[in-house]
Amino acid sequence: MATYRRLDECLSVRDGHLFIEECDTVELVQRFGSPLFVFSEDQIRRNVRRFQKAFQEGWPDGPVKILPAAKANWLTAIQYILANEDCGCDIYSPGELEVALRAGFDPQFISVNGVPKDEDHIYRCVQSGVRITIDSVEEVDVIERAARELGRTAKVRLRIKPAVSGFIAHTDFVPEGLVPTDIAAMVYKGGLTKDQVIALGRRILQMEGVELVGFHQHHGRHHRSTRFWEEQMKAYARELGEVCQALGGYQPQEIDIGGGFAIPRDPFNAATDYSAPLEFGALHALSKALKPLGDETRYAVMARLIDTLVSEPNQTPAPSIEAYAEACTRTLRQELPRYGIRTEGLMLQVEPGRALHGNAGIHLTTVRNIKRITYPIRWTIIVVDTTEFWFTGGRYEHHLHDYVFANKADAPLVGKADIVGRSCYGDRLMPIVRIPEVQVGDILALLDTGAYQEVSMSNFNAMPRPASVLVTGDEAEVIRRRERQEEVFQRDVIPARLQAFVDRRAFAPTSATKG
Ligand SMILES: *Cc1c(COP(=O)(O)O)cnc(C)c1O
Repeated sequence: MATYRRLDECLSVRDGHLFIEECDTVELVQRFGSPLFVFSEDQIRRNVRRFQKAFQEGWPDGPVKILPAAKANWLTAIQYILANEDCGCDIYSPGELEVALRAGFDPQFISVNGVPKDEDHIYRCVQSGVRITIDSVEEVDVIERAARELGRTAKVRLRIKPAVSGFIAHTDFVPEGLVPTDIAAMVYKGGLTKDQVIALGRRILQMEGVELVGFHQHHGRHHRSTRFWEEQMKAYARELGEVCQALGGYQPQEIDIGGGFAIPRDPFNAATDYSAPLEFGALHALSKALKPLGDETRYAVMARLIDTLVSEPNQTPAPSIEAYAEACTRTLRQELPRYGIRTEGLMLQVEPGRALHGNAGIHLTTVRNIKRITYPIRWTIIVVDTTEFWFTGGRYEHHLHDYVFANKADAPLVGKADIVGRSCYGDRLMPIVRIPEVQVGDILALLDTGAYQEVSMSNFNAMPRPASVLVTGDEAEVIRRRERQEEVFQRDVIPARLQAFVDRRAFAPTSATKG
C-alpha cells in the first residue's frame, strides 16, 4: 500500500502527527492559524554547516565562504541566522541590501548582483563597503564616480557567462521543450561577454578608486546532475584563464561559482511530465473517435482512462551537498592551474539558494471542502485554504511538492484527488495526487517550501498573505505576521471625483450599516 516517502532531517512522524523539530505541526496551526509557513532554524544552520564543511574539505588551497542567495528567503529573522552562522550574502536589490546590512553581515562578503543597478543604490554600496558584482558596462562609470566623491575604494568583481559547451542535455528551466542547457544559459540576462569582461577589466585596473578583486558566475538550476557542475567549472576555468591572460597575468583574490544546487527531494519541474502531451493527444483523439458511439460509451471509456492518471512527487533524490562540493572543487583544482590561475590563497565563494533554504521550510494548509464527482467521470477535488498565488516561485518552476497530511501522517494512501487552492483560478496546487481518507479540517503539509515561496506571494483575490513562524527545538515564534485585510488596500488611492460618486449612492456602506 502506498505511503509517504522520505521524511527526514527536521521532519518526523510521531503518533501520526508530522513534527518539525520538536513542534507538532497540528498544534502550530491551532496556535498560529492556517495557512502558515514554518521554518526550521536547526535545518538552516545544519545546511549552512554542511555547505561550509564540504566545500572547505575539497578546497584546502584557500578560504571558503558561503553566500546564500537572499532572494530565496529574505525574511529578516532568517537573514539574522545566516549572519550569525558567519555566512556572506548574495543580494540583488536595494531592499535586499537593506536587510543584509541590518542583519550585520561583514560587508566584504555581501555580493551585490543585478542589472540594472540604480545610481543611489550604487552609491549606498560604495558607502557601505560591500562587493559590487558588475553585470553591465554602464555601471562602471557610476561606481568610479561614487568612489571618487565618497573618498572610498570600491571593490568589484566581474560577472562572466562562460558557455557551458560540454553540457547539452535539456535544461529544466524550459519545461515546454527540450532546449539545450548551454543555449538556455546564454539567453539569460545575467553576465557579461568575454570581450566586455576583458575591456572592463583593463579599464578597472587603471582606475584609482576601483579595485578588481575577482570574478563571479551563476547559471542557476538548469540541471541537477553533478556533471552539469563539472562542465560549468571547466567552462568557468577556461574563460577565467583567457580573461586573466588578456589582463596581463592578473590573479584573482576570490572566485564565486554562484548557485543552482538542487533541493534534496527536488520538487523542481516534478509537475512536468514530458510524455503528457502525447497522452493528452491520444486522449483527445480517442474522445473524438468515441463520439459517434454515444455519450454513455464515450464517458465509460474516458472515465476508465482518467482513473489511471496519477502524479507523483519526484522519486529520485538530488545529489547531496557533499557530492556537489566534490564535483566543483575537484574540477576547479584540476582546471584552474591548467589556465595559469593559482589556487593557493584563492577564496572560493558559493551561493546556494534553494539547496540551503528549501528543506528548512514547510507550508501548512487546512482542508476546507471536498467535492466528489461520480458521473460522467470520477473526480475528487479537495479545496484547501491556501493558494498557488502564495507559491508563485514554485509555480513558475513547475514544482510538485512532496506532501504529508499532518494530522494523519501514517495513514495509508487509498485514493486520489486534485488538491486545489482557494482562489478563483483553477489553482491546481497538486494535480491528481494520492491521498489518505480525507475530511474537512485535516491539515496538509507541503514540504520543501523554504525557498522562493513565501517571498513571492501576491494578493490575488485581495487575499491577505499568511504568517511565517520560526521553530527551534520545541519553541515557535512568529517572524512575519499575517497580513491584515485592510493592509491589502493600503496603497490604493481614490480620486476625489470617484469618492463623491460613491458618497451620493444610497446603498453606500456607512458606519451605521457596518456597525
Ligand atoms: C538566484 C541566485 C542564486 C541562487 O540560486 P539557487 O538556484 O536558488 O541556488 C545564486 N546566485 C545568484 C547570483 C542568483 O541570482
